[in-house]
Amino acid sequence: MDYIANLPPTHVLQEKDAAHHLHPFTDTKSLNAKGTRVITRAEGVYLWDSEGHKILDGMAGLWCVNVGYGRTEIIEAVHRQMQQLPYYNTFFQTSHPPAIALAGKIAQLAPDQLDHVFFAGSGSEANDTVVRMVRHYWASEGKPTKKTIISRHNAYHGSTMAGASLGGMSAMHAQGGLPIPDITHINQPYWYGEGGDMDPAEFGLMRARELEAEIDRLGEDNVAAFIGEPIQGAGGVVIPPKTYWPEIQRICRERNILLIADEVICGFGRTGNWFGSQTFNFKPDLMPIAKGLSSGYLPIGAVVVSEKVAKGFIEHGGEFYHGFTYSAHPAACAAALANLEIIENERLPERVANDTGLYLAEKWKMLGEHPLVGEARICGLVGALELSPDKAHRASFEAERGTVGTICRDHCFESGLVMRHVGDSMIISPPLVITRSEVDELIEKAHRALDMTA
Ligand code: PLP
Repeated sequence: MDYIANLPPTHVLQEKDAAHHLHPFTDTKSLNAKGTRVITRAEGVYLWDSEGHKILDGMAGLWCVNVGYGRTEIIEAVHRQMQQLPYYNTFFQTSHPPAIALAGKIAQLAPDQLDHVFFAGSGSEANDTVVRMVRHYWASEGKPTKKTIISRHNAYHGSTMAGASLGGMSAMHAQGGLPIPDITHINQPYWYGEGGDMDPAEFGLMRARELEAEIDRLGEDNVAAFIGEPIQGAGGVVIPPKTYWPEIQRICRERNILLIADEVICGFGRTGNWFGSQTFNFKPDLMPIAKGLSSGYLPIGAVVVSEKVAKGFIEHGGEFYHGFTYSAHPAACAAALANLEIIENERLPERVANDTGLYLAEKWKMLGEHPLVGEARICGLVGALELSPDKAHRASFEAERGTVGTICRDHCFESGLVMRHVGDSMIISPPLVITRSEVDELIEKAHRALDMTA
C-alpha cells in the first residue's frame, strides 16, 4: 500500500491502528475509544495530520528534531549512504567510513575532556551501555565493588530495564519490578515544587549534598557513578539552581565517583550551548547522547567518554561484552553527520543563546502571568508552564493531578500546537530553527489553550 500517494481516510487509518498497534506510554483502551491522530507530513516546525490540519510542533517530535523537518541535506546523505553501504557492523574487527567520521566529529564537538565514542541505537541503549561501562571501568581499575550508580527521583533515562532503573519514575518502577540491583535514587533539585521558602541557591546546594550523604550511606568503595540530566526533561523540565551541578561535580571528584551527564535532551544546542553541561558549568566523565544527534531522522545514540574512562578499554585490554546490531548503523551515522553539519553551519546553539532563546524567554515570562500558571521556567529552547489552582501559594492540583494538564494539552492540539503535559506542567521543546514569528504563534496558541483550560 502506498500511504503517500493513496492515503486512506482517517477513520480507516484509526481502525487499522486500533486493530494492530500497541502504542508506547499510552492507555491503549482509552486511545482506541477516541481514535488516534494520524500525522502524515512535516516541514520546518510544522506537522500536518490526515485531515489536513497544520500544527506547530512545540515538542520537536520527542525533543529531538532540532534542525526541523524536511531537511534535504540529511535525506540526500542517507540516500547516498544507503546506496553505498546500507548496513554493516563494527563488531568483528571492522569499521566503516560514516562511523569513523562521526566518532571523530562527536569527539571534536564534545567538551574537551570527552573524546571516545561508543555507538548505540537510542538513548535507552546509550544508558544501558553506561551501566555496563562504568562497572567495567572500575573492575578494570581493580575496584570491582564500585558498582552502584546513584540517580535522582523523577529522572528519565529511558525505557529498557537498566534505563528505567536509572530513571526515577515510580510508575515505571512499579510496573517493571524495578530498579535492578545497585541503583539508588536521591531527591531532585525541583525548587518550585519542593523548595518551600528556601532560597533557590541554598536549595540547590542542599539537594546536591544529598549525594554526599548517599555515598556515605553506601560506602565510597561501592559507588561507581552519579547520573543526571542537566535539565530533567520528561520529569517536567526541572531546571536546577545554578549552584547544583558545580556542587555535584565537587562531590564526585572528592569522592572518586564518575560523573555522567545524560545529554539525550540537552545535547546539540537545546540549552544555548552544544551541551547542557556547558550551560550548567560542569565536566562529566561520560555523556550519553541521542535525539538531537540525528535530529531524529534515523535512530542513533552513543556514549561519549573521557580518556580516563576509555583507558579501561584501551590500556587494560580485554573484551567489552556489549554492543548492538545497529551500533553505528551506516545510514544513521550519515544522517547524524549531515545533521551536525547543519547545526554547525547555522550556528544553532548560538542562535538559541543570543536570539530565539532570549525572545522566547521574554514571551514565556508573560505567559507566567496567566492566572493558571504558577511558574513559567525556561532555559534556551526548553521550558515548562507549571499549572496551579492557587499561584500565590504554589499549590498543585494534587487530587486531580494530570487532569488539567491533559485538558490543556488537548486544547493546544485543537489550537494547532503540540505541547506535552507532564502531570500539570505544560512542556515545550521546539525545533531549534524556530523563527521569532513562529515563537509568536506558539505563544499565542499556548495562551489561547490556557484561556480555554482556565
Ligand atoms: N535519556 C533522556 C534524558 C531522555 O529524555 C530519553 C528519552 O526521552 C532517554 C534517555 C531515552 O531515549 P530513547 O527514547 O531514545 O531510548
